[in-house]
Amino acid sequence: MTMTQYQVVIGMEVHAQLQTASKMFCGCDANIFGAPPNSHVCPVCLGMPGVLPVINQRAVEQTIRTGLALNADIAATAVFARKNYNYPDLPKGYQISQYELPLCVGGTLTITGDDGQPKVIRLRRAHLEEDTGKSIHMSQNGVAYSLLDYNRSGVPLLEIVTEADLNSAQEAYDYLTKLRTILRYIGASSGDMEKGAMRCEANVSVRTWQQAAQGEYGVKVEIKNLNSFRAVRGAVEYEVKRHIETIERGGTIQQVTLGWNEAEGRTFVQRSKESAHDYRYFPEPDLPPLRIAQALVERLRATLPELPDAKQARFVTQYGLNVSEAATLVADQAVADYFEAAAAAYGGAGREVCNWITGPLFSAMYNANQDVGALKVTPSDLAALLALIDRGVINRNTGQRVLTTMVETGRPAAAIVEAAGLAQVSDADALSAIVREVIAANPVEAAKYQAGNLNLLNFLIGQVMKATRGKANQAVARQLLEEALSA
Ligand code: ADP
Ligand code: MG
Ligand code: ZN
Repeated sequence: MTMTQYQVVIGMEVHAQLQTASKMFCGCDANIFGAPPNSHVCPVCLGMPGVLPVINQRAVEQTIRTGLALNADIAATAVFARKNYNYPDLPKGYQISQYELPLCVGGTLTITGDDGQPKVIRLRRAHLEEDTGKSIHMSQNGVAYSLLDYNRSGVPLLEIVTEADLNSAQEAYDYLTKLRTILRYIGASSGDMEKGAMRCEANVSVRTWQQAAQGEYGVKVEIKNLNSFRAVRGAVEYEVKRHIETIERGGTIQQVTLGWNEAEGRTFVQRSKESAHDYRYFPEPDLPPLRIAQALVERLRATLPELPDAKQARFVTQYGLNVSEAATLVADQAVADYFEAAAAAYGGAGREVCNWITGPLFSAMYNANQDVGALKVTPSDLAALLALIDRGVINRNTGQRVLTTMVETGRPAAAIVEAAGLAQVSDADALSAIVREVIAANPVEAAKYQAGNLNLLNFLIGQVMKATRGKANQAVARQLLEEALSA
């Protein structure tokens, strides 16, 4: 058997920290990144006896907004539950989460599937919970010990769970990318994985197509603590290969929880099924059930911006872009906004603006290590550059060089063209002299052209461009050469 005789089955669980001013159940500042250890803590998030949690309204609202953006049903009643387990980074001995009655039920997210077609990934649920503290494992003189930082304890966390609808590492990667884009569009989460604001777990199994036809599933493993999209891709690919090889050898897959060793590119067993936790969930007695009024849902729906799919579809119809061009622009809301502002300044012609943004501008930004937020070239600066090209003041090649300088210095195109004397030579008299020189310097090529080898015209145009350091207006140069050689 071969790889193609198996279907890969993946379900993703994503934890996203919500962007709120304060923590989930206390007034501590939730913006903890880079803060000194244990500087954002209070008796509530340290789990002191006798304290009571208070629900963060903004976190509830951000969860509902996320649910709406993901086409989920918003529960009329949601209930917080205690998830009990013992770990040093969980000072209460339980995490407040949602279990039987989460805030968001169902939902969908559309990705581009492996076949290039839109593919709807069904969501199972999205629920609100609190983050745990952080254990930092150390070792000195052969003695192992752990440090605890409770800044993260109680930060609002949204867990989003898919159905097992993803069928390759690439689809899992696309799902995560799209989910992060949506979270960022609506301002629910920064989605910054390197800051721990978004974390992933992948559930992976494989099955034969025959099993698939009968609705049977293979045994799954769960890979935890995947801290980058790259890690997700690597870990899923590794597990798929291991599952198929094991099955081919006649072995069986054990249902286990795995970790991912990025440096060694392999998974390792964290715990077996037998040692799986029994969390003894029960409703949180210190918090009332959340009753969500439909009026609140509608008020929050009105706060949602145009979402990536809608924006992409609009870009296709409004600007005549193809789907992949539009997808590139909408992947980052700031880029999409930049594009629309530049297209407006350029008189609405989006196609040309899109080409310049996704080609020369992106590569100049990459080389200058700038992102769109810090870009010194304003949308109207870009439109002014394109206008110079349209008016024939500079040609496209010069335009690309000018854009690089614009990105580096922030100076407008006209000033750069003026200062460096880059304006295109369109003047027929000036170019005629150069054309005569080029013909005189290349008599063999000129004669061959006249004898019928028309390809040599491009060579001669190239010589004119060289003589003018790229500034000749190519169309004028071509015309003058043709005239001179046919005389
Ligand atoms: P658990 O009880 O182990 O947490 P769940 O049934 O709650 O498992 O599902 C957790 C995640 O695993 C969901 O995203 C779900 O879609 C996914 N999942 C369930 N069964 C499979 C399977 N056979 N292969 C891959 N993913 C699966
Ligand atoms: Mg799980
Ligand atoms: Zn606190």
